[in-house]
Amino acid sequence: MNQPNQRPPCPRSVLTPEQERRRAEWAAEAERKKAAVAARRRAEAQQARRAEAEKKRRRAEAWRLFCNRFVIYLIMLALVLAVSGLIFLISLHHTEKETLPHQYAYSVGGVYDEQGKVIEAPVTITLPQQDALRDGILYLPMSAIADLAEMTVTGTPDVLKFTAESGEYVRFTAESNRAEVNGDIVLLDAPAVLREEGGTETLWIPAEFIVTWMQGVAVESNGETGEVTIRLDEDVEISFLLKGSHPLETIDERGEFGDTPAIAFKADLSAYEEYMNPSDRDAYIALINVDNKLAADYIPDDLMNVVDTRKDGRNTQQLREYAAKALEAFFIEMRACGITDVSVTSAYRSYSYQTQLFEQRVDMYPSLSREQAEAKAATVVTWPGASEHQSGLCVDMHNLSAADISFANTASFAWIAENAHKFGFILRYPEDKVEETGISYEPWHYRYVGRYHATRIYNLGISLEEYVAQYMQ
Ligand SMILES: [Zn+2]
Repeated sequence: MNQPNQRPPCPRSVLTPEQERRRAEWAAEAERKKAAVAARRRAEAQQARRAEAEKKRRRAEAWRLFCNRFVIYLIMLALVLAVSGLIFLISLHHTEKETLPHQYAYSVGGVYDEQGKVIEAPVTITLPQQDALRDGILYLPMSAIADLAEMTVTGTPDVLKFTAESGEYVRFTAESNRAEVNGDIVLLDAPAVLREEGGTETLWIPAEFIVTWMQGVAVESNGETGEVTIRLDEDVEISFLLKGSHPLETIDERGEFGDTPAIAFKADLSAYEEYMNPSDRDAYIALINVDNKLAADYIPDDLMNVVDTRKDGRNTQQLREYAAKALEAFFIEMRACGITDVSVTSAYRSYSYQTQLFEQRVDMYPSLSREQAEAKAATVVTWPGASEHQSGLCVDMHNLSAADISFANTASFAWIAENAHKFGFILRYPEDKVEETGISYEPWHYRYVGRYHATRIYNLGISLEEYVAQYMQ
């Protein structure tokens, strides 16, 4: 019944020696086990403490290492920053000093002796760097160059034509990169620019144009100092490398533009579109003839100079604004198509001037009565008030010394008669409409009515009298 490791039941009886011995053994055994457990626990605790200490040591070691590396990195970073900052500063210093002067100083013309001493001072112009150099393109003062080269300047500030003594010319449009050289179109590197200087507007153009296309002008520029020198080349006449020798090109019509077909011109006439094709399309259609006279005191209030007036000493002719600008476009395109011999000989005439012309004619028939003389004069000179010229909407233009129907036999007339309507003009007194107009054939006389009506009149092949009677009542 007794099992080992099981205590004997209580109360205890007296033990045999054998039992005493066993009991002592048990006790010793238990003591030994207890001691072993305690020892093991102590060992484990010690091991845990050691592991903990080791962990701490490693952590400390890692932190120290990290700190050391961090400091090294910081030092390296600081070094890199310092070096690159130094390089940046150096390059900045160099850029300012070597490639971008703050001011550009132009010196145009001037007379020098053989030692280079100034005999006559050049014209000098200074310009801030950002104006002289746009997107890396150097601009030159075309107006000053024209003065130097003794070129004639005509046109409006927006569209300026520079004509050399030889008759060769270039035309620039402000804010446009198209230039017209002797009737040919040249694309500029950048648009021409109008600049206000001391109350006058001057035209600036990319230097490349002068260098590439213009002969007789020498340009030197120094990008480091900003000095630009422009001189005449005394051995070369002012001229251009393009001579406008291209053959006459037909104008093709394509697409629809509002009421009238869009027109592909050879020149860039986009700036003139509103003038050729006025949005107020009936504003210029008024019929003026012996039955529809203008009042004696009628003077248009928007007269403008006609830039293509013949340059033979006569007064610069004038037209109403829209007619003048449309005519300007007409001439630009004409030249782009190779016709350069036509010019305007007459445009607006006042009532009093027309009266003077009429009276001069009447005086040529002293043998007739006043009434007879007037009737006879009226066959040659329009009655005062009945002349379209008082309206400021018509021009006489041709290539003869005086207006004559032989103009109708020229190639210039053929082009004008074929194209006038595209610019808003009509041949006002056609050969086959003398009865309707009451005026003999005038191949040189063109009336502005705007493109819409001009195109219809041209296509219908009728006179303004018939057109107004049939379509404008
Ligand atoms: Zn006329």
